[in-house]
Amino acid sequence: MPLLYLGRREVEELLPMAECIEVMAGVLAALARGETLQPLRSVLRLRLSERRGLLGMMPGQIPAASSPDAVAAPPLAPLAPLAPLAPLAPDIAGIKVITLYPDNRAHGLESHQGAVLLFDTGTGSPIAYFDASSLTAIRTAAVSAVATRLLARDDAGDLALLGAGVQAAAHLEAMAAVRRLRRVRVWSRSPESARRFAAAAVRRHAVAVEPAATAREAVAGADLVCTTTASPKPILAGAWIAPGAHLNAVGACVATARELDGAAVARARLFVDCRESALNESGDFLLALREGAIGEGHIQGELGDLLLGRLAGRRDPAEVTLFKSLGVAVEDLAAAHHVYRKAVAARRGIVLET
Ligand code: NDP
Repeated sequence: MPLLYLGRREVEELLPMAECIEVMAGVLAALARGETLQPLRSVLRLRLSERRGLLGMMPGQIPAASSPDAVAAPPLAPLAPLAPLAPLAPDIAGIKVITLYPDNRAHGLESHQGAVLLFDTGTGSPIAYFDASSLTAIRTAAVSAVATRLLARDDAGDLALLGAGVQAAAHLEAMAAVRRLRRVRVWSRSPESARRFAAAAVRRHAVAVEPAATAREAVAGADLVCTTTASPKPILAGAWIAPGAHLNAVGACVATARELDGAAVARARLFVDCRESALNESGDFLLALREGAIGEGHIQGELGDLLLGRLAGRRDPAEVTLFKSLGVAVEDLAAAHHVYRKAVAARRGIVLET
């Protein structure tokens, strides 16, 4: 059975942000309807002498939709008009295998590297291999864009990016896809990285990006905030957040790490991509719960619940909303399958005979 190899270039060209946002809306709705299968990710802490490294495994399946209305457009959420959901292709199964080497940046390598493999569910044969770095960057930011479209004020456009790595760049593109950006500030642990990010972003986007000296300065008055750092400790304090802001919290994907202090989580109505993941893997949620800043019921629901009209999103212009992203396998599989279908139609990629 031939295996199609799709590298970074194919993934980036065949998965434009605007398309990925619709694909993510579709799969998040399927997840909330209980149609998808995925265990919690399993993470191996590698024993290494020099660097820190994790190896993560994320298998899943998006079975064929059980009824035609399973892929129908959901009711529109208040304040957030949505395009119709992209129909999900039937029966996708696969796995993402990814390493996380947080210090790689200093060595000129990406911190997340790996592969997504898709399988033919009829025969069990592998059919395609994808570069996971680019796929992860695009799908993660696209999910934050879905959250932003559902939860941010319509007039939100003052963006603070905390972190200046791969996710910060993808989030700038994703935020620009769903809101008209008036101003962008970026802060990073190293001021030089924030300056480099700002200079590169100005060349790629029409909007000016200002490096900020502190996270507090970046966030002051912002109505969109994306936290995209590998910090294990809070880099965003609740007291700094402007009324009416929407936050996408993207880093801190393990139970022991957090980017937000307890006050930031307590101030906000909290939505997640997957409730089970948040209850097991989100330090932002679990550590705030442990210190008593929030109660058990603080999670309002999943993005899919908002997409399906089961939950109200933003209720007034002054409330703070928070999307805690953990990233789940079915997002990778839906994005990969979208790339696969387009690649087959356009005869892209390298066919490997197995
Ligand atoms: P990069 O390595 O490209 O960038 C990391 C950023 O975090 C840099 O700005 C870096 O600062 C900063 N940073 C690193 N360590 C610290 C620290 N101890 N304190 C403060 N800042 C720090 O990573 P990515 O952009 O790919 O990923 C960012 C985060 O998002 C990671 O935690 C990653 O695991 C998570 N992630 C989440 C996903 C999801 O689905 N929710 C998917 C993919 C990633 P500097 O510029 O100074 O080096």
